[in-house]
Amino acid sequence: MELVPFSQPAEVYIINTCAVTARAGAQSRQLIRRALRANPEARLIVTGCYAQIAAQDILDIADSPICIVGNGCKHRLVEVALADRHCDLEMHLGNIAGQKEICPLTATSFGGRTRAYLKVQDGCNSFCSYCIVPYARGRSRSLAPDRVVAQAEIFADQGYKEQVLTGIHLGHYGHDLTPKTDLRELLALLLDRNLPVRYRLSSLEPTEITDQLLALMAESPSIMPYLHIPLQSGDDRILQKMNRRYPAATFAKVVEQSVARLPDVAIGVDVLVGFPGEDEAAFRNTYALIESLPVSYLHVFPYSKRPGTPAATMADQVSKADKDERVALLRDLDHKKRTAFYRNHLGSVRQILVERRKQGRLLRGYTGNYIPVSCEGDSALVNQLVKVRLEELTEDGVLGRIV
Ligand code: SF4
Repeated sequence: MELVPFSQPAEVYIINTCAVTARAGAQSRQLIRRALRANPEARLIVTGCYAQIAAQDILDIADSPICIVGNGCKHRLVEVALADRHCDLEMHLGNIAGQKEICPLTATSFGGRTRAYLKVQDGCNSFCSYCIVPYARGRSRSLAPDRVVAQAEIFADQGYKEQVLTGIHLGHYGHDLTPKTDLRELLALLLDRNLPVRYRLSSLEPTEITDQLLALMAESPSIMPYLHIPLQSGDDRILQKMNRRYPAATFAKVVEQSVARLPDVAIGVDVLVGFPGEDEAAFRNTYALIESLPVSYLHVFPYSKRPGTPAATMADQVSKADKDERVALLRDLDHKKRTAFYRNHLGSVRQILVERRKQGRLLRGYTGNYIPVSCEGDSALVNQLVKVRLEELTEDGVLGRIV
């Protein structure tokens, strides 16, 4: 098979849908219609979270056959795509809530990217009241450590120098396995292999950033000093309504401990603005908490109703105007935090992994603590680790010089 851009007619389309918001579901339906218009004869395979929770809505889009492949059956995508007969309205949805094993999906490349994403865990048991993920992905389940190592070795052999350990609820890694294990033990195992790789962790819940994990990060130059922590709200009443299992004080403690252990750490924080019941006082608590902490940057999301979740039917929904205003305030705070974090690193020498040449001019890459750096240099340095001195703030990061 030959991969063609989505804009060109194809014989087989695999559409990986998203359901995180109602809008993401609508966009998924739009993509399906676009594919059907481009080639009504195509074999259309729809997978992902929206397919999992709204299969019938997808089948209702068209008279022509659409094949649904659920999240627990993604390992069958190739077989379905190459089958002799058309998958006449066939559904491979499976029973996602009862799924005990993670889908065996071995990957060898990431379509031209310099960073490989190593998925070690899927599903979530937490049922935050705004989130559809546990319904679409099922319960938490982990890839066995030997299989994680095998996948890391494949990526390393392919030349990937940065691997990001990902999961829907990464901090629950290994809790379902026999014998039980955890993320720290998995990292230790990976480090034992001495692969020429720097590891980055994707999002971790505040309660899952333990002293032991921070200690391992502090002593291992191969684990990047980078933490992405979802806070969502800095107000205890709202955190409870969200069914988040920590008070704001725990988050503050974790951030302070992380910075004490890893002085250069980048701490990125997710915030959900305008959750039902968030009044001015609750928002001010969120703003003040983040402002007071050594956070490096924010990802700010306005709350939107996700049908099928408890929060969608809660009273006291926040008006769009209030949400917009609060989002703007937090994005402004993000800009201040980000700039201060970058400025603190000016004059230092750090390693970047060069990812690409930006607009035909400067090379672009990220430091271990996720500072975007542009610098002059030869194209042969793409996908290489190089040392740069961070010299000047720019609109989108820092200008550096190779040393
Ligand atoms: S922990 Fe994350 S994935 Fe799980 S329910 Fe909460 S927000 Fe959703």
